[in-house]
Order: sequence, then C-alpha cells, then structure tokens
Amino acid sequence: MENNIPENIENKLYKVKYKTDSKCHLNPNNSKCLQCIDKVCTIICPANVYNYNETEKKLTVSYEKCLECGACKLICKNIDWVYPSSGKGVNFKNS
Ligand code: SF4
Ligand code: SF4
Repeated sequence: MENNIPENIENKLYKVKYKTDSKCHLNPNNSKCLQCIDKVCTIICPANVYNYNETEKKLTVSYEKCLECGACKLICKNIDWVYPSSGKGVNFKNS
C-alpha cells in the first residue's frame, strides 16, 4: 500500500522549530494503553511522539516533537489532548 509520507520526512522534521512547553499537552491514560491491542498512536504519528516500552509496559510521549496535526486525537479517545500553552509548541514559519 502506498502512503503519502515523503521519503525524506526526517529531513523535513529537522527543519521544524519548537518552543517546548514546560508541561506535556498529550496525556494518555496508561491503564487503558495497557489494554490497547493495536497501539495505533505509535504508527500514525508523523513525528514519532509515541513509543511503547514493552519491558516497562508504558507508553512514552515525546510531546516536545508534536506537530499538533491532531491525528492521534482523531484515532484515540484515550488521549487527553490540548494545545500547548500560548506561544509554545510547534512553529512552522520559515521551516
Ligand atoms: S494512546 Fe490510545 S492508541 Fe495509543 S496505546 Fe494508548 S489507548 Fe492505544
Ligand atoms: S498531534 Fe500529530 S504530531 Fe502530535 S502527537 Fe498527535 S499525531 Fe503526533
């Protein structure tokens, strides 16, 4: 199956600028993540924000890389998703 993700997405992401918020704006309920079979968030996120650690049985959230695209919010109702604080988060200008 063909997808529309450019081959050089890592290079494109490298150019994106962020102003990291002090607190995480993406908060999944880990007890529900434990029961989640597909863990689609780890697949759908273009910025690789979500990773599931099988040893620790915990979903890690690298929120500072979030592009605020909203894809994870659409596919999973278990994520308490808000925008970063005013002036924080991703900045696509000149990227
Ligand atoms: S955030 Fe949602 S999709 Fe991701 S592991 Fe948890 S329940 Fe599953
Ligand atoms: S909003 Fe988009 S970039 Fe941010 S964590 Fe969700 S899928 Fe990834």
